[in-house]
Amino acid sequence: MQIDLSGKVALVTGGNSGLGEGIARGLAASGAKVAVNYVTHPETAEALVGSLKAKGGQAVAVLADVSDPAAVAAMFGQVDQQLGPVDILVNNAGIDGGRQLAWESDIGSWQRVISINLVGPYLCAREALQRMVGRKSGVIVNITSVHERIAWSGYSAYTASKAGVSMLTQTLAQEAAPYGVRVVAVAPGAIRTPINQNVWSDPAGLKDLLTKIPLGRIGEVEDIAQMVVFLASDQASYVTATTVYVDGGMTDYPDFSHGG
Ligand code: NAD
Repeated sequence: MQIDLSGKVALVTGGNSGLGEGIARGLAASGAKVAVNYVTHPETAEALVGSLKAKGGQAVAVLADVSDPAAVAAMFGQVDQQLGPVDILVNNAGIDGGRQLAWESDIGSWQRVISINLVGPYLCAREALQRMVGRKSGVIVNITSVHERIAWSGYSAYTASKAGVSMLTQTLAQEAAPYGVRVVAVAPGAIRTPINQNVWSDPAGLKDLLTKIPLGRIGEVEDIAQMVVFLASDQASYVTATTVYVDGGMTDYPDFSHGG
């Protein structure tokens, strides 16, 4: 299947690391013009933009903290001017916030996870939909997690934020469908990126992780990027208001594989 996104403008939040970088590369490889959002490490965003341009693509780096409404509005204005109105938004930026049991947690850290992981996608989707609805075209892909569905002790803000984005996805999809705009979520399982390096770089952590993955391997960035590119394309034109799990079967409850 040949996926052609030429002429489309894509914005990837948190595009300068891990999944975001892979998604930006995948979209550019299919011909999209790509805006790479970053909040820290401008040098990595610029390096990615340089590499996409070197392959003949069009790309820009755009600064914004996705939890800041004014910064998000300014970022979309910048993309309008430099590449054109956004056709594809990938809400990828996110943090896990670190492990804290709820009764010991710091309220500010809890709220920060919600601000970045849930309010951020809302703010970016709001700006994107303002541009998509009138043009009767566009796709929003929200990166959630298997933890939109699987509880995770010590990460109540993270799980609540991802479950929230799942329902945000379905509700925005319902609002936007009459205007030909699709809104979907991709829920990664355990993918090898900086966010979980402490787990996969530790042999005991990796061994434990693999017991949770029926396909028996940790996911790679390309596993997610390929799905996002497909969902952003017209080949997925009948897919909206749903979450696609890309998790090696993690949500298939492997603990039950021996019966019992
Ligand atoms: P990562 O840490 O490599 O990337 C996260 C990105 O988000 C970074 O570029 C970071 O700078 C950016 N970011 C953080 N706060 C931001 C803010 N306020 N404004 C703008 N950007 C901000 O981790 P990753 O694994 O690539 O994570 C990407 C997304 O995938 C996250 O939403 C994460 O929850 C989700 N996810 C990852 C996994 C996994 O196994 N790697 C699994 C499930 C879900």
